[in-house]
Amino acid sequence: MKSFDVAIIGSGPAGASAAFELSKSGISTVIIEKETLPRYKTCGGGFVFRGRKNMPFDISSVVEKEFHSIDTYFSKKQPHLTTTRDTPIITMVMRDAFDNLIVEKAKENGVTLLQNHKVLDITFGAISTLHTTEGDIEAKFIIAADGALSPIAKIAGWEETRLIIPALEYEVEVPAADFERLSKNVRFDIDAIPYGYGWCFPKKNHLSIGVAVMIKTNSKINLKEYYATYLKTLGITEIVSEAAHGFVIPVAPRTDNFVRKNVLLVGDAAGLADPLVAEGISNAILSGVLAAQAIIEAKLDSEKVAELYTQKLESTILPEIRTGAKLSHYFYNQKTFRDLVLKKYGQKVGEAMTDLFMGERTYPADYKTTISRKIKEAIF
Ligand SMILES: Cc1cc2nc3c(=O)[nH]c(=O)nc-3n(C[C@H](O)[C@H](O)[C@H](O)COP(=O)(O)OP(=O)(O)OC[C@H]3O[C@@H](n4cnc5c(N)ncnc54)[C@H](O)[C@@H]3O)c2cc1C
Repeated sequence: MKSFDVAIIGSGPAGASAAFELSKSGISTVIIEKETLPRYKTCGGGFVFRGRKNMPFDISSVVEKEFHSIDTYFSKKQPHLTTTRDTPIITMVMRDAFDNLIVEKAKENGVTLLQNHKVLDITFGAISTLHTTEGDIEAKFIIAADGALSPIAKIAGWEETRLIIPALEYEVEVPAADFERLSKNVRFDIDAIPYGYGWCFPKKNHLSIGVAVMIKTNSKINLKEYYATYLKTLGITEIVSEAAHGFVIPVAPRTDNFVRKNVLLVGDAAGLADPLVAEGISNAILSGVLAAQAIIEAKLDSEKVAELYTQKLESTILPEIRTGAKLSHYFYNQKTFRDLVLKKYGQKVGEAMTDLFMGERTYPADYKTTISRKIKEAIF
């Protein structure tokens, strides 16, 4: 039976980045992936600078487009916001090529890739056995980088405590004149759908257009209908080709820990996407790196690995996304309040969000005081 120190399940940005980090340490590592690479992943492919600036190698070979400005539109009552930076705020990638690049870099450093291997079950022990469609594999540690559905978290006994939101993504080819007009800017349309937003992300030859509901709601929201209306907002009347993909994004972290039975949850499996915009690539990468570092620094000692990984998450990603989740509630659920604040501070809010995308600031820890002060200032 093949045996490794670490088995990483999933070759997305979380798993591939964990593998790359481990590959530098000499710890034997395997990536187990159910698909054949490169594989399509439903995603807008907007990679914010916060993530890009920490990439340990050049990614220009997989860059579709780079944008130094972002346009954010609200309902007609609010003026639209534009923010600009010297370095690209958002880099557009197609996830098949992007994820595969990270896997290839890890392979160059000695990581084993087993593709077309779906993990079906695990027998846990000091050394665990992973039962895949292509046979058994042994490993001491398991990094569950298996995405939003995370079958591995279920197998390891986690209950569902993440907030999971629905999203629709279309890869759309439009006539040349429309592409020319729409491919110059990245745009977010906050009121394109209730409790969420729409986006138009230009790629080399097509547009990635989508809609997502960002918070928990009892209202029935037909994403397809809002997508159709959003196309009209974008002025698209003719479609050359269109591929529809629906999926989910976890936008609130698990509340019952991230490690058990030598299994470490990373990326979407842990619920680490940004709750305000559902940007998940950069935290997937960061959490993969943190999990790998915990294993390396703890020298494969189980208790220490669990303690270190939890500490690392608590001092980086978790406080951020917990605050982000509360702000997301104000932003999408308290529209009157949001519009009041935007009326007075629209550009400031846009700049602050852009600084977050750039990795130059964090969400304000004292958001409650700031919000109540801003409400008073906006009303009186
Ligand atoms: C519509 C939509 C639009 C989005 N747009 C953006 C965006 O523009 N920017 C952004 O930053 N984020 C975006 N996100 C979020 C982002 O896609 C995720 O947060 C990110 O992909 C998480 O990475 P990951 O490595 O954790 O998981 P994934 O990228 O989902 O990778 C999981 C991998 O695990 C494999 N796997 C699953 N089960 C098994 C198994 N049993 N055995 C073996 N392999 C398995 C899968 O095949 C897959 O390759 C979007 C998400 C959606 C749904």
